[in-house]
Amino acid sequence: MPLEIITIPCLEDNYAYLVKGPDGVALIDAPEAAPIIDALESRGWSLGVIMITHHHWDHVQAVDELKEKYGCMVMGPKAEADKMPKLDMALEPGFSGGTGDGLCNVIAVPGHTLGHVAYHYPQAQALFSADSLMALGCGRLFEGTPEMMWDSLSTLMELPPETIVYSGHEYTLSNAKFALSLDPDNAALQARIEKVNEARAKGEPTAQVPLSLELETNPFLRASDMGLRKKLGLENATNSEVFTEIRARKDRF
Ligand code: ZN
Ligand code: FE
Repeated sequence: MPLEIITIPCLEDNYAYLVKGPDGVALIDAPEAAPIIDALESRGWSLGVIMITHHHWDHVQAVDELKEKYGCMVMGPKAEADKMPKLDMALEPGFSGGTGDGLCNVIAVPGHTLGHVAYHYPQAQALFSADSLMALGCGRLFEGTPEMMWDSLSTLMELPPETIVYSGHEYTLSNAKFALSLDPDNAALQARIEKVNEARAKGEPTAQVPLSLELETNPFLRASDMGLRKKLGLENATNSEVFTEIRARKDRF
């Protein structure tokens, strides 16, 4: 049975995701109760488990209300357990659970926060990356170092390129402006931005895309690209150093 994945816009620009598979319905992150409850009720679904990516309030706010209503399990990164609502199961990177298309691996992606995890469904080729890898961007480094984030992104870049990346926020348009400033001649980027503009004009989400497209267009994944390196005057730097410079420029952009 293939996974059914529902994108739920929450708050200003957050996304939560429902993942319905052979083991029931999981929710990735809990930014806001009302739209999540609506999405469940309109489908006649109950909620089995909430899976938290990191401790920030805009990802955990609705946990208690949803747990109260559905009696669901709450899982999240063990390293951040003391900073979030009570976890019924504290997950360590490397853990796998679920069956068939519902098989899910927990991947450590520190940088934005130190304990941030991504949820990867290898059979279903879906990655829930929240505020690590984002559409045309990556999360701000609130807790970790640039080297840490580069390592995290490098891990995700190794996943099959057909993997669909579901990220935590609708930041694509503002990320696109920055990406274009660094990489103005990238035809794939130009084409992507055109599509993003069209989608946003219709109010459609744009933060759910194949990894292959991120690899071609997301400047944070393109530290090894010679054109980008020339533009930054970093032809001989390491990938991690190039990433560090790109992240610093984005923070000032
Ligand atoms: Zn966050
Ligand atoms: Fe966030």
